Amino acid sequence: MSSTPIVLITGASSGIGAACATLFARSGAKLILAARRQDRLKELALDLEQAFGIQPYLLALDVRDRAEVSRVLQALPPEWAAIDILINNAGLSRGLDKLHTGVVQDWEEMIDTNLKGLLYVTRAVLPGMVERGRGHVVNIGSIAGRQPYPGGNVYCASKAAVRAISEGLKLDLLGTPIRVTEIQPGMVETEFSEVRFHGDSSRAAAVYQGLTPLTAMDVAEVVLFATSRPPHVNISEVLLLPTDQA
Ligand code: NDP
Repeated sequence: MSSTPIVLITGASSGIGAACATLFARSGAKLILAARRQDRLKELALDLEQAFGIQPYLLALDVRDRAEVSRVLQALPPEWAAIDILINNAGLSRGLDKLHTGVVQDWEEMIDTNLKGLLYVTRAVLPGMVERGRGHVVNIGSIAGRQPYPGGNVYCASKAAVRAISEGLKLDLLGTPIRVTEIQPGMVETEFSEVRFHGDSSRAAAVYQGLTPLTAMDVAEVVLFATSRPPHVNISEVLLLPTDQA
């Protein structure tokens, strides 16, 4: 890894992605921040510039759009193109329904974002890492990928797929110096829950009742730790839970 790594974070406009941006900026990395909400990315970039004197490169990116992902990432200026660390974080959950009452559009959104979006971005970034012989891919999975919960069918399936892809990627890359890490958080207090319930904040808040959730920073600290180990050490997967979550 170069001394000033270039880090691409998808879903950097809020929550875990924004927390990763802050910690990596503090560590002196060069940041490419991607998301759909450009107003939020610009606000974050301003904060990072004021706090750490860095100017991130901002990308308007919907990870579901395969052609756009490929076009935008291929069009990076040469000084930003050699991505060292890819943090596949963009993701969401919609609804909490049994399969027989589920909303098909919600399923498609989750699969297109959490699974296909992660694949599109990885497909666009990984060839450069292989060619340069260095890199680290961090996939943000979830405990949901190991442990389905009532009403979580499709979200859990999308995160189980992230787990399978992370394991498969490690096999693909065996014998190269490129590392793959999957982080599986439990409940983290972010905008995730509001997005899940389409902006219904009282339903969203109810999710955290009875436990102290993780913060986005708790997760970002693990991402930074995993990517700053010596080259022969790969933190393969991390299950990170609130102390009072089963
Ligand atoms: P947030 O809702 O705060 O952040 C989600 C991020 O994903 C936003 O920046 C959003 O940006 C981005 N995103 C969503 N859809 C797209 C898209 N189509 N294209 C590009 N970016 C997109 O939630 P979290 O920070 O909690 O979620 C981050 C990751 O962590 C997700 O993968 C989630 O599944 C995972 N996770 C979260 C847990 C939790 O309890 N919060 C637990 C376990 C895992 P924008 O809308 O601007 O595009």
